[in-house]
Amino acid sequence: MKERTLILIKPDAISKKLTGVILDRLLHLDLEMKGAKVREMTEELAREHYSNLAGKPFLPSVISFMRGDLNGITDHRVYAFVFEGEDAISKVRAALGATDPAKADPWTIRGAFGCFKDGVMQNCVHASGCKEDAEREISLWFNPGEVL
Ligand code: UDP
Ligand code: MG
Repeated sequence: MKERTLILIKPDAISKKLTGVILDRLLHLDLEMKGAKVREMTEELAREHYSNLAGKPFLPSVISFMRGDLNGITDHRVYAFVFEGEDAISKVRAALGATDPAKADPWTIRGAFGCFKDGVMQNCVHASGCKEDAEREISLWFNPGEVL
């Protein structure tokens, strides 16, 4: 089924100069890039993006990681993309691997480049987990005219 997914390259990956290698892997999935932007990860945006984690004890650390602060990164920009195609959500999630990089297969993006550090699964990339999340996240990150 043709569907859309939201992808975020997180500040840890940007600071490690992994943007190119991550995008290269994602572009090989034969999906179409429909939207791309640079956006500041404000505390408010991070909370909204991870509204499903509200109340979890690790949420403050995750937000600090998503802004870069946890790793001393003062640049709060993230790179956001909308990819579209057949089974886009599951294809991208498979390329990412498990949430915890320590458990992710070593050939996946998270397995290859992520780590578990300071109580957070520092996993380089976000991708939507299901169709409902994807549509909610795309409208949070992109204005309608920005997704072509
Ligand atoms: N996370 C974490 N510890 C946990 C659960 C989540 O550090 O026990 C972080 C991790 O960075 C993850 C993000 O919170 O990517 C969002 O969690 P989710 O369960 O949605 O995982 P994902 O969809 O990113 O695989
Ligand atoms: Mg998720």
